[in-house]
Amino acid sequence: MAKKYVYRFSEGDKDMKALLGGKGANLAQMTRIGLPVPPGFTITTEVCTYFSEHGSYPEGLEEQVGEALAAVEEQTGKRFGAPDNPLLLSVRSGARASMPGMMDTILNLGLNDTTVQGLIAATGDARFAYDCYRRFVAMYGDVVLGCKPEREDEHDPFEERLDRMKEERGARYDTDLTADDLKQLVADFKAIVKQRTGHEFPEDPREQLWGAIGAVFRSWNNDRAVAYRRLYDIPDTWGTAVNVQAMVFGNSGEDSGTGVAFTRNPATGANEFYGEFLVNAQGEDVVAGVRTPRPVQELAEVWPDVYRQLLEVRETLERELRDMQDFEFTIEHGRLYMLQTRNGKRTGLAAIRIAVDMCDEGLISPEEALMRIEPEQLNQLLRPVFAPEDKQKAVAEGRVKAKGLPAGPGAASGRVVFTAADAVEWAGRGEKVLLVRDFTSPDDIRGMDAAEGILTAQGGMTSHAALVARQMGKVCVVGCGALDIDLSTRTITIMPDGTLVKEGDWLSIDGFTGEVILGRLETRPSEVVQVLVEKSLAPEQSEPFRYYRELMEWADGVRRLRVRANADQPDQAAVAVAFGAEGIGLCRTEHMFFGGDRIFAMREMILAETEAARRAALDKLLPMQRDDFAGLFRVMAGRPVTIRTLDPPLHEFLPHDDADVAKTAAALGVPEDEIRTKVAELHENNPMLGHRGCRLGITYPEITAMQARAILEAACLVKKEGVEVAPEIMIPLVGTRAELADQERVVRAVAEQVFAEQGVRVDYMVGTMVEVPRAALCAGQVAEVAEFFSFGTNDLTQMALGVSRDDAGKFLATYLKKEIWPADPFQTLDQEGVGQLVELGIERGRRTRPGLKVGICGEQGGDSATVKFCHRVGMDYVSCSPFRLPVARLAAAQAVLEERQGAELEK
Ligand code: PEP
Ligand code: MG
Repeated sequence: MAKKYVYRFSEGDKDMKALLGGKGANLAQMTRIGLPVPPGFTITTEVCTYFSEHGSYPEGLEEQVGEALAAVEEQTGKRFGAPDNPLLLSVRSGARASMPGMMDTILNLGLNDTTVQGLIAATGDARFAYDCYRRFVAMYGDVVLGCKPEREDEHDPFEERLDRMKEERGARYDTDLTADDLKQLVADFKAIVKQRTGHEFPEDPREQLWGAIGAVFRSWNNDRAVAYRRLYDIPDTWGTAVNVQAMVFGNSGEDSGTGVAFTRNPATGANEFYGEFLVNAQGEDVVAGVRTPRPVQELAEVWPDVYRQLLEVRETLERELRDMQDFEFTIEHGRLYMLQTRNGKRTGLAAIRIAVDMCDEGLISPEEALMRIEPEQLNQLLRPVFAPEDKQKAVAEGRVKAKGLPAGPGAASGRVVFTAADAVEWAGRGEKVLLVRDFTSPDDIRGMDAAEGILTAQGGMTSHAALVARQMGKVCVVGCGALDIDLSTRTITIMPDGTLVKEGDWLSIDGFTGEVILGRLETRPSEVVQVLVEKSLAPEQSEPFRYYRELMEWADGVRRLRVRANADQPDQAAVAVAFGAEGIGLCRTEHMFFGGDRIFAMREMILAETEAARRAALDKLLPMQRDDFAGLFRVMAGRPVTIRTLDPPLHEFLPHDDADVAKTAAALGVPEDEIRTKVAELHENNPMLGHRGCRLGITYPEITAMQARAILEAACLVKKEGVEVAPEIMIPLVGTRAELADQERVVRAVAEQVFAEQGVRVDYMVGTMVEVPRAALCAGQVAEVAEFFSFGTNDLTQMALGVSRDDAGKFLATYLKKEIWPADPFQTLDQEGVGQLVELGIERGRRTRPGLKVGICGEQGGDSATVKFCHRVGMDYVSCSPFRLPVARLAAAQAVLEERQGAELEK
């Protein structure tokens, strides 16, 4: 028997997403639990894979589709292609992960010049029948026959014809057109198809059906779908399913309609029914955002029974699927039908609130709540708002010119651009841009990604712009009907007063309120930041903060990995502690040498010709460093503080232009020429591989000695104040045991002197950065000396890949586009390659020194995938920038939960 490629809705369930796609599996589940779903069937994702590979269908598919279709005919009492009472179908894509707007949908399939008469006879409504017919020809023409515009400034030929017709007839809405108008449109649309493709529009319903199925499968590999998969890491091999379903008609009169609803508010996460509907319309009208829909609550007046039923559906769906749902419904002559449901896209804010609320409501466990949130979404909680004074001023000056729907929270200011391509180009030049469009389509994704915010004139909260913006975490305002956008002149006229905004002008949008404001407004930190960092808001006054805190408490209760921050100054350390830092994983001491006059003392040290002169300069630096370190120890109050000795090439500290040379000469009382000579002398061809890191301390031990003294004197001082201290002195760029041993001797000798002088001892450790591949390979020897390892994955990546971290930008985009690299290895660890060095280093290090403390302090330490990797390879902690700490805490908790899931699967 042939393999099963086709499943009727009554044959599947929600756990079959890999085979039936998300949409198919959920349609099956809704059918199973008795919700009113029009009958239909799903062609599996395996067929898509087969089709991609062979360009044809597997054996037996045709028969199986025929049988499933016959079953739909039986259930509906209608026949596909029959001249009277014909069955009409929708054909939709549905991948395993939802890809909004990426794939194509065809409605009213099965109509031709014969069946349309049957539809008229069955409904007694010629206007309705021709309305269906013209929609079908346009959709089929666009999607299957390729008449869709290729370029942004081109118009859809069918829309253009429709608009012309409306103009000719003086019609405001589509619904103002008569049956004869629509019939004419069908003929005109078919003529467009003939003219564009050279072929007649297919009349045979079966040919239409197979054309549509093929188009859905082919659309899996169209540019938009591929771009989307790239952006969201969806494997190409998953494929899409095809869902074929009996049509029900939301456009069959004033007692019909269609809508989209969320079981909770997708922007804020509030537990309230949220949605929109249109009377006498088909689903595409809501999603495409051409007509602005009405809030679902108004259904209570229009069709109270349907509204009551929808409220029940809302509860059933959440109980059954245990997540916030985004569903489509249609009302045909007063009867409710469910067309699809899926887990709703939501803002980071909403994701957090929904997860926490659902846990509090007993729907899910805290562990499930933790797994529901993408760690990166936490960044949205830290998103900016407008500075209140700026906002008030804008209001007072009448610069709030319009209001749309607040689709993506946050505050954004940018210069106006009108196309996605411009957004990408301008942003590439470093401009902040605001992308303004009538509505967005999936083609605009890259532009949306590049923009600070997105503003559309049309569409509702469920339009494409809104969905995608929320997922990206972009500030977004949609459906701002006051905007009259003219692409040809690149201007916006804001009604009613006709304010003109030109391309390049500054415009601001408030994604919390939907306001559109002229000019540029200053933005302010989020409430969480105001509570934690600025302490300008009381915790109990901020709802976002309450959710943040609850979630972080759960995460902290689960995770094993510790989190530390990279911080150089006491104020940064304080921010880090507020975000949950359990230590400092990297203090780059060189950053301390740039403030105020310190740079001159540093330059004096570098320019010194003798050891005595160098020591004299170092003596000036010592008290400054000691103060810095004491500040850090006080803030960290007994938490470990890893301080690294001097690392960068010395020339980085030297003056680079004439003015700076002159200033330095004056400050140090030496001739300018002497400074120029020294700068030339220190020039290196390859400074990143030159005289830097421990090589500085080995050639000038007095530098290491001064720093060790500053660290340990500060530690003694703070300890005497009654505050616990835990200094960890870290030597950079070590490749061999001997390098580390050399520096360790210097540190330990100084330590003994300091303890004797201070009359107090502190516990401290000496360890190393592992950032030269040799140190990872020879970690067993290095660990004979090192009391801890901290993987410096910036340098380790640079040296393992042989790619300069400062120059990678020149070819990074090409590498990503060509998929030579799956991701930027300086952002997310190259687990496959560099990861081996890390694993090997840990294993060999711990073989020498069991219990060796290991962490990471490269930039990747704040990336959620890297954090999970660090957990898996048994690190003790990750260290990242303070603002990434919430992400790291959640990712660390998820790592534990994923590990448990894996163990359970194994059992
Ligand atoms: C590293 O190389 O990963 C590191 C943390 O050090 P730096 O970025 O200062 O070279
Ligand atoms: Mg480094």
